[in-house]
This record gives sequence, structure tokens and C-alpha cells, in this order.
Amino acid sequence: MHRMLIFILYTTVVLLACSAGPPPPKSLSSEAMSEHSVSNSYYSRTDTTQLDLPDSVWKKVLPPEVYEVARHAGTERAFTGKYWDFEGRGTYYCAACGNALFRSDAKFASTCGWPSFFETVRLGSVEYRTDKAFGMSRTEVLCGRCGVHLGHVFEDGPPPTGKRFCMNSIVLDFEPDEGD
Ligand code: FE
Repeated sequence: MHRMLIFILYTTVVLLACSAGPPPPKSLSSEAMSEHSVSNSYYSRTDTTQLDLPDSVWKKVLPPEVYEVARHAGTERAFTGKYWDFEGRGTYYCAACGNALFRSDAKFASTCGWPSFFETVRLGSVEYRTDKAFGMSRTEVLCGRCGVHLGHVFEDGPPPTGKRFCMNSIVLDFEPDEGD
């Protein structure tokens, strides 16, 4: 009986030791991808089909803070976004639909407090619209695939384009290059 009790205790301790411990670390990119695949079935980094979704759908599939900027042309506060002074090598995608927007090679250190790029990853990555809000005339930048608001473009950027795509970090997803 005594031996039996010791055996049960030993087995319990071994089982507990095996099941305890921290879960295996997940990479940022796989976490970001699974987050999107669970909640936003429109998100794809390979499908370039144009999306024309009603606001009610965007409200359901986007996190509230992304929805606010993407659909209500909100602006995150300067120097607060996750990418304004980020220097990783890789590609920036639309956080709403997964469309490729910018390469890190086109990113430059801007003093404005938002991630800034001098060119898009390809022609048609983004679309443009005149924005007359706040008594100004600015060029709004929208995602070329899903049409959500990304930021604005100005003509005071560095060579070779002279453009400054001033983006909101919250509507960008960064994927590091393989091996980085
Ligand atoms: Fe998009």
C-alpha cells in the first residue's frame, strides 16, 4: 500500500513536470498572420483581386484602432506608431487586406513622426484622392486593393522621387525579409 502511494505520487510529479513550462515562442510574423486569418478572411498577401467591401464588414473584421484610421481617415499621433523610427529590412503590407505597399529600401528617416517612404512597391499599390479636410488641399493615399485610408503623400520627399508617403503605422503590417 505504501509503495503504491509512492508510485502514484511519483507519476503525478512526472506528469506535472511534463505539462508545465512556457509555451514555445512564436515569431511575430506567424502571430500576425494567424491573427488575420482568424478574424479577417479578406486578408491575403497573394490575392490581388480588388475588394469593395461595405463598411459593416470592415467594422467586423478589423480591430477597432485599425478600423478608425482605415475607414474614418483617422491619424495616429506623431511619434507614437510602431514603425515611425523602425529600420527592419522587409516589406510593408496593408493591415486591412494584405496588399504589398512599400519596401524598407524606400523608407527614410523623416522628422515628421510617421513612417515615411519615397516610393511604393509597385505601380497600383496605392490610389490617390484629393482631401480637402481641415481647410487644406492634400493628396490622400488609399490602398490600391481595398481602398482603405493609409495616409497622405507630399512633394517634399528625398530623391529620386521627391515624394514623401506619410503613413499611419497602425494600417501597416511589416514582414521581415527571410534570413533577417
Ligand atoms: Fe488594403
